[in-house]
Amino acid sequence: MCMELFVISNQSKEKINEVISAFEASPYLSMGLLPNRVPNRVRRLFPGKQIVNICTEEGCACRFSTSKSPEKLEREREKKRRLQKLSPEEWEELKRETRELYEHSVRRMNALRQFCWALSDEGIRPVELYGLWIDDPVHKNGAIRMEWDQLFNDRTFDIKEEHYIVTSNEETVQTSEPFRERGGTGS
Ligand SMILES: [Zn+2]
Repeated sequence: MCMELFVISNQSKEKINEVISAFEASPYLSMGLLPNRVPNRVRRLFPGKQIVNICTEEGCACRFSTSKSPEKLEREREKKRRLQKLSPEEWEELKRETRELYEHSVRRMNALRQFCWALSDEGIRPVELYGLWIDDPVHKNGAIRMEWDQLFNDRTFDIKEEHYIVTSNEETVQTSEPFRERGGTGS
């Protein structure tokens, strides 16, 4: 199953559209305010807010994930290597592919970070992201506050079913919801 990702904002559609247009040519992002890209179950959760669906050029948000580092993938594939009796050349080829996939995910994650940063720069603050598995019922457990480097870490970036509030340390955040402590999420 695939992950969907939404950017939630109190600001006007025009303001968000401006930022979106600036990123339209990005080879790593695909997004829109078109109603058919935001399911009703998500709209109902954030009444009166602007919601943007954002995904990678591959059509889903899971591809932003960088949590599979080359080392981790190589460890996984080491098993496969033994099972399939790969030749040293084939093994080198697999490792090269693995590294390329990871580097591509890092570029996607950085594009997402730049987009979120541009929103913040335009006064669309705090940046709110909402992740949801496609077709799963919506959930609302309270938002998690994350600092930029904490969320956008190229060794661990992995969108979960969560409502993220991305801020810098010194920023005071006003939201209608209480924050949950990070760590006890379980999902
Ligand atoms: Zn996916």
